[in-house]
Amino acid sequence: MNNVFVVNAGSSSLKYQLINMADESVLASGNCERIGIEGGILTYKWNGEKKVLNEELANHKAALDKVVALLTSGETKVIDSMDDIVAVGHRVAFSMSQSNEITDEVLAGIEGTVSMFPLHIPAMVTGIKACRETFAGKVQVAVYDNSFHLSMPDKAYMYAIPYEYYEKYGMRRYGYHGTSHRYVTLRLAEILGKKPEELKIVSCHLGNGSSITAVDGGKSVDTTMGYTPLAGLMMGTRSGDVDPALINAIAQKENLNNEEVNAILNKKSGLLGISGVSSDARDVVGAMNEGNERAALALEKFIYEVKKFIGAYATAMGGVDAIVFTAGIGENSKELRAEICQGMEYMGVKMDMEKNNVRGQEVDVSAAGSKVKIFIIPTNEELMIAMDTAALC
Ligand code: AMP
Repeated sequence: MNNVFVVNAGSSSLKYQLINMADESVLASGNCERIGIEGGILTYKWNGEKKVLNEELANHKAALDKVVALLTSGETKVIDSMDDIVAVGHRVAFSMSQSNEITDEVLAGIEGTVSMFPLHIPAMVTGIKACRETFAGKVQVAVYDNSFHLSMPDKAYMYAIPYEYYEKYGMRRYGYHGTSHRYVTLRLAEILGKKPEELKIVSCHLGNGSSITAVDGGKSVDTTMGYTPLAGLMMGTRSGDVDPALINAIAQKENLNNEEVNAILNKKSGLLGISGVSSDARDVVGAMNEGNERAALALEKFIYEVKKFIGAYATAMGGVDAIVFTAGIGENSKELRAEICQGMEYMGVKMDMEKNNVRGQEVDVSAAGSKVKIFIIPTNEELMIAMDTAALC
């Protein structure tokens, strides 16, 4: 009866996990794809087994009902009935609040952020509304991607633009990937047997989307993403920080409007933009290994930017106890981790290349005597969402 159902809803997809909070085990997980589009696909994993159903998924509610049927009956059964689910946790893009129960008022607040996240919020709201029907009567909790960064001091979140834009439109740095940065912070403290309050951490979430956060005493004090998740590091397809005057210059030279330039910075830039090969780091590494110079340049720049932010955040915090690598690239690419840490001995960062020879494991990869610990911690946003949800029941 201690089980939490975690939902990450996209416009035509819905990722889910059922987590037993007694031992934090995943009872079942999967993805519903092509919801509302011909050729629906429902993936369901349980007990080390996997089923892929090719069935029409008319809408999010229909997809959820099918998942519930799988959870509660037949060979895929992992719980006896809906009574064995205590609450539902949702990944939501943005709020000025910490995780909270989704009342009508909270839902209206979430819907009010649609202009900031036109692609994500309608899907997340659809997911919440569908769960309200399928899981009627259960507590629903929203866990927000930016909330961890609400602790940033004003000097870190203010932009040097007219103050009235901050007052009128809330134009400031918000930061994202907060659930991931919070998870690795708590996990690292647990591994080291310390309280988060005792640690200065640079958390590197390096995936398709990438961000780095300075976590001082368990609190985010600065982060690379900004008003939107376009800012900071270059990413798979996102430019990260550029001279803001480029937007106008690109629009003029290419005869594009604002929206089109925005789309280019979001979808055609980053690793893809420089390499011309792919947004996927594995493909870019592959191309570099075959001698592609632009692929090599893209990776060199990515590594350089990560290094710069690590140095900046160590300075911002007046020191660093640990650097953590997480997400697709951070967890899996020993080459990029090694390159990032190379040449940082001056600040007490020394990697053990043998220990670094791993993928997707929770491990200390710092060399003996390294003043700064270096850890790989696979992120687990779903567990963090489930923990917040359980705490609010
Ligand atoms: P995520 O968004 O966290 O799922 O991360 C996806 C990114 O991780 C993609 O760019 C993948 O290419 C990258 N990735 C996964 N495995 C590896 C690997 N072994 N080496 C380099 N990049 C990887």
